[in-house]
Amino acid sequence: MARYTGPVCRLCRRDKTKLYLKGAKCDTARCPVERRPNPPGEHGRDRLRQGSEYNTQLREKQKTRRIYGVLEKQFANTYGEANRQDGIAGENLLRMLELRLDNIVFRAGWGASRNQARQFVRHGHVRVNGKRVTIPSYRVRQSDVIELNEKARDFIVIRHNQDTLDRRPPAWLEVAGGGNSVRVLAVPLREQIDTQVREQLIVELYSK
Ligand code: SF4
Repeated sequence: MARYTGPVCRLCRRDKTKLYLKGAKCDTARCPVERRPNPPGEHGRDRLRQGSEYNTQLREKQKTRRIYGVLEKQFANTYGEANRQDGIAGENLLRMLELRLDNIVFRAGWGASRNQARQFVRHGHVRVNGKRVTIPSYRVRQSDVIELNEKARDFIVIRHNQDTLDRRPPAWLEVAGGGNSVRVLAVPLREQIDTQVREQLIVELYSK
């Protein structure tokens, strides 16, 4: 299962916005976006001037892809599926990304970042409806119960995240089991998804 393994702060600087890929560091003054707002690389400053319509749409797509930690092909496939569903394609896309298992682990406050949440899933620390699931892109459904296994509940890193992260699970997730379990009450509505992206631009990009 492929994933991006390069430097992540570079991705934020490229999109000139905080994508919150590093967990705790993102909220500190050490965040490189705060210290060096121009895009990375020798010609980073020159990139500040680019502003074509295509570039704007492309950057929005890249930003969304990076926030959720999805590679190009999988993202395009997800969009294709979202486009075939009833409703607004952009909203369907965001909803499908939100329902990824690694995102649920992140939203539940167990992982400091989606990358860390993904690792917990890959290492088999998460169960869906009582069954171990190790696929980060696994899409949960309404009424599914997602929980940490017994061993993971005592992990210092998870307990630290639960105690220190100021992250309240969204309204469509119900917390139970002393914070070690969440239930999907409903698929999220667009207004319940706080990811700062303009999904319409992604639709325009893929519609070309
Ligand atoms: Fe992005 Fe976080 Fe790195 Fe800042 S610290 S650049 S928000 S990943």
